[in-house]
Amino acid sequence: MKVLKFGGTSVASAPIIRKVEKIVTSAARQEKVILVTSAISKCTDTLIKIGTEAGEGNSSYKAQVYSLRCIHHRIIEELLEGSACTEAIKECDATFDELERFADGICAAGAITPGEADAIQTFGELFSTRIIARKLAADGYRVLWIDSRELIRTEDGKVRFDLTDPAIRSTLEAHPDVDIFVAPGFIASDLQGRRVHLGRGGSDYSAAIYAAASRARIVEIWTDVPGIMTSDPKVIPAATTIPYLSYRAARDMAEFGAKVLYPPTVIPAQRAGIPICILNTYDPEAQGSFILDNPPHRASGLLGLTALKGEALANVAPDVEKPALKAAEGDVVLVLVGTGEEDGAEVEARMVRALARAGIKAKGTASTGYNVFAVVSAEDKRDAMLAIHRRFFESKPIRTINCFLAGYGAVAQAFIEMIATSGDTIAERTGKRIRIVGVSSSRKYILNTDGIRPEDIATVLPYGHPAEGGAFFDAIGTLSLKDAVLLDCTNSESIGARYEEFFRRGLNVVSCNRRAFAVPYARYAAMKSTAHDYGLALKYDTTVGTALPILESISGSAYSGDEITAIEAVVSCTLNNIITSYDGANTEPLGTLLKQAQDIGLTEKDPRADLGGRDALRKLLILAREAGVPLEESDVEITPMLGPEFFDCPIEEFYRLLAEYEPKFIAREAELDDLGMRQRFVASIQKDPSARLGYKAEIKMQLVGMDSPFFWISGTENIVIIRSAFSAPLVIRGAGEGARMAASGVLNNILSL
Ligand code: ASP
Ligand code: MG
Repeated sequence: MKVLKFGGTSVASAPIIRKVEKIVTSAARQEKVILVTSAISKCTDTLIKIGTEAGEGNSSYKAQVYSLRCIHHRIIEELLEGSACTEAIKECDATFDELERFADGICAAGAITPGEADAIQTFGELFSTRIIARKLAADGYRVLWIDSRELIRTEDGKVRFDLTDPAIRSTLEAHPDVDIFVAPGFIASDLQGRRVHLGRGGSDYSAAIYAAASRARIVEIWTDVPGIMTSDPKVIPAATTIPYLSYRAARDMAEFGAKVLYPPTVIPAQRAGIPICILNTYDPEAQGSFILDNPPHRASGLLGLTALKGEALANVAPDVEKPALKAAEGDVVLVLVGTGEEDGAEVEARMVRALARAGIKAKGTASTGYNVFAVVSAEDKRDAMLAIHRRFFESKPIRTINCFLAGYGAVAQAFIEMIATSGDTIAERTGKRIRIVGVSSSRKYILNTDGIRPEDIATVLPYGHPAEGGAFFDAIGTLSLKDAVLLDCTNSESIGARYEEFFRRGLNVVSCNRRAFAVPYARYAAMKSTAHDYGLALKYDTTVGTALPILESISGSAYSGDEITAIEAVVSCTLNNIITSYDGANTEPLGTLLKQAQDIGLTEKDPRADLGGRDALRKLLILAREAGVPLEESDVEITPMLGPEFFDCPIEEFYRLLAEYEPKFIAREAELDDLGMRQRFVASIQKDPSARLGYKAEIKMQLVGMDSPFFWISGTENIVIIRSAFSAPLVIRGAGEGARMAASGVLNNILSL
């Protein structure tokens, strides 16, 4: 047995009734069918109006009855011919006459009683189902119209299943030769035999009642939408069909405002363990929504978004779990119906953020075990629904990127802080969630493949495992995680030496560790080709100019065939900071500036690494190699800004020499100022056919005039000029320093994976 129910729009005209007939008769070829339908659309509304007008003594009810009669006549005349048509019209008219007498009675009494107001609504389903039964009979099917008023019994508005079930069963059993039973939805009678109905939209419920009583295999609810949707498609054009729902979720959707299903419908179906399928009469092949006991798992724990008036929350059936939420009149309650797999508090927070981004303030939020609720004012309803739906149902599934973090210095800590504060926003915006699964300082490491909460790292790391001897990397090697990245925030060349091993283990590498790249070209090339062979990424944009888009610009032009003729870079933050502070007039001595730079973590441990050009050398190697020039250290001619005596001595001696040198330096700066010149510590490669690689590489102080972009930088700004054969030079200039900058740079690299 199968129960099929068709709604008002599915029986509203002859052509659509023919579609219904096709669906019903093809089902009846497989098994016995009970066909339940609503009244044709708007019929029940008109009947209510007839009752009200009659009760008010307003004779226009007669016109309403007449036009309703005409609508039905027209359908009959289009569907049926000859005597079948005449008979159907006769039957229809008899019921319409009855309706008219009923309305006349109300009119004569001068008022409509509540009982009459209910009873008058029950005519609509009598008209529609009788027409369809006659059509099926005319086409030769073995049909029986059964009277739901005699079978479905209610007491105090509740169905008496103890009476209803056996009545339905014995009627069906009494007619073993019938293939299609046609029953009016919505209507019933009470214990006194008075006509009653099951509540607006109640035909769905009738179908479930028939299904439970007849122990049907399935109930199909045929309607004019594709199924239970993620939200009301009239408000949300992007709403999609929910393929599977549990009985509980379907009932919650309906109770909290989804109009596609009359809420109590689920109850008898669930009790009898009968699945409900919501299907579209206008697209019969589409899959629709399936409501059943153990729906197949969905990726997201959230199913749909409904809305109901604030005051309606109190009327939701008492056995449906709802929160104690205050909603003033005129407020709307939005409900995210879920499967209970999501953390309600977290969904609430995401919902508030989605609303805030749309400029809407949630007046209150709450969650129960399955559902999350937000109150907004009625005028915000539409925008709020669009915003929430977009956030929860239109986003791509979130991909998790597992991150092993090597190094626990300023950059790593800034990175962790960013994930802690912005991880959710990043996930929402990019569809990628960064999960930190391991962290190692030089002394300790922690690992947890389920993820370590970023805000916990500072607390738990000191209690981690000893990290000596590369233990962290050995431990990582034993794990196999998909979508994983090693983030190298150390300063150690030896970790760079392990990158190839990481690739072989399936890890991507993102690095801000410049030393890992300032290695002989052969090793650098091997790292890159191993990454390539394993289809993994090696990203190190932050090694030059921190978050400035320098390397990508160089490799971009190199790959596009635009031959680079020169790269000139002023990329030493320490030196830039010191030297530019002498532009104009400076008061601080060099040594003091250097110590300050060291204090804020700008310089290398021994600041002479910067002054001597080592740091610039590493950057130049990376820049050149990115441009396709396999530069080696030995190709670079370095002229430090200070003589060799400054470098071959203990650090105290260095500071003493610096103090001595100070007056000379200042005098030089003043002299240059008068000439409109400035000095900058420039690392460059320049096309030069006489050089080993065809490029001359130099690091030295250069004098620049106002026509040079280098003249204008200040503080720790970095600047790189890329000159190429076809185009005007590309100048990239901007903040080149700081742990937060570096952290956002590596973050971007990870998000590009
Ligand atoms: N005809 C009734 C109504 O309009 C029942 C139904 O359509 O389900 O409420
Ligand atoms: Mg309906």
